[in-house]
Amino acid sequence: MIVMKFGGTSVANSEAISRTIKIVSSKLDKKPVVVVSALSKVTDTLYKIADLAKSGDFNAAMILVGELRGRHEAIVRELIEDDAKVASANASLNNIFDELATMVRAVSMLRELTPRSMARVASYGEILSSTVICHVMNFLCINTALVNAREMIITDDYLKGRPVISEIESRVPVLVGEAYEGRDAVITQGFIASTINGEPSILGRGGSDYTASLIGMALDVEAIEIWTDVDGVRTADPRRVSNTRNIDKLSFEEAAEMAHFGAKVLHPLTIEPAVMKNIPVYVLNSTNPLSKGTAILQAESIEDGIKSLSFKENIYLLNIFSTGMIEVSGFLSKVFKVFADNNVSVDLISTSEANLSLTVDDTQDITEVVRLISEFATVNVHTDKAQVSIIGKNVVIQRGVLRWAMSAFNNINIYMITQGTSLVNISYVIDRCELDTVLPELHKYLFEFESH
Ligand code: ADP
Ligand code: ASP
Ligand code: MG
Repeated sequence: MIVMKFGGTSVANSEAISRTIKIVSSKLDKKPVVVVSALSKVTDTLYKIADLAKSGDFNAAMILVGELRGRHEAIVRELIEDDAKVASANASLNNIFDELATMVRAVSMLRELTPRSMARVASYGEILSSTVICHVMNFLCINTALVNAREMIITDDYLKGRPVISEIESRVPVLVGEAYEGRDAVITQGFIASTINGEPSILGRGGSDYTASLIGMALDVEAIEIWTDVDGVRTADPRRVSNTRNIDKLSFEEAAEMAHFGAKVLHPLTIEPAVMKNIPVYVLNSTNPLSKGTAILQAESIEDGIKSLSFKENIYLLNIFSTGMIEVSGFLSKVFKVFADNNVSVDLISTSEANLSLTVDDTQDITEVVRLISEFATVNVHTDKAQVSIIGKNVVIQRGVLRWAMSAFNNINIYMITQGTSLVNISYVIDRCELDTVLPELHKYLFEFESH
């Protein structure tokens, strides 16, 4: 068995869906479990719909719902050439849109959007895409069963919960096994899940990759394929740096660090379940299925060296000063207890005698953390910084890396430098406005000079 996950751009419209189904049908002998994202940008639209409803603007929210309906119905019309089957697919869509409209009405009446209702609204993108694609596959004579991901993927919270692995491991093989009986393929939704009480939840933005690896782990599949819109993982984000190259192979650890330190190509937690069962992860291009992509494997088969640059544009840099830090034990534990108690995770850390600097993703609310730490120290929060990371197996002990890297930072202020203890990354904090100067320069010094 294999898992094949198709992201938003791979199912964006009729043409993309046809291409995707062709790729799936070329691998039916491997018994694929197909995981689909919402059509490109649909989840963003659902978040807008939720916001409009929360502000009480039911009509504006319903205009966007109408646009979503139009997009999905067009695909049904364009790809299913059988009136009865079109009617059946549209009937499924009607039920889903009726439910969504009821949710939007409830939120706009109450003018309140709880995490529970947000998770419910955000889930419709994957419910719609999987329904449409399943109907099209069956029309094309690929006998396909749709399995509800909410019955397989269980989380401990509505919006950014952790998956409950024991539940997932016991449910997935049973549900997929039953669905596969007499079928050619099984399809399910990425991103969406439910709490242990059976209420809708989600895995966080970009979470379909994570769904794919959780299902892959539970089924102990031969491979997890992440089909997207680039030829594989590249030496940097091709949207920000020109001249990037494809990476043939990465270790699990390198890929996890890249994703954790900002590379949007994979959800940061995708690699964790794959490592548990040592399952190779392939990043492949659905618009160019013949390109060989990137294989993410155990570290033994991977060479040392710099592989890629990641960056995070939206971070807080916190500088914490305390005279109490000088020769007083317990200051650091006091600071980190505040972070732990408030569920705020820290990215980079560096300390000196009386100063502690750290970075935090700006998606996290740090108001309470800052308030509590200010009770025993001085805290300065900088909101105009970015972090850049050089990732590669044993990069920290590669001779010359720091020298080449420093050439790229010529005339640019560096506020913090850290080396991961895993030896896989070196990170720098700089002014955000310098990011588009630093990234291409670093890429040039680290990847584009022959002598390296
Ligand atoms: P999907 O919708 O298929 O999940 P995403 O947009 O989430 O696709 O991820 C693919 C995008 O990730 C690419 O289009 C690319 O712009 C971006 N990206 C960021 N960093 C990298 C990288 N190092 N290598 C490849 N792509 C990257
Ligand atoms: N549709 C979700 C999102 O846009 C999940 C995903 O695409 O992976 O975040
Ligand atoms: Mg993605």
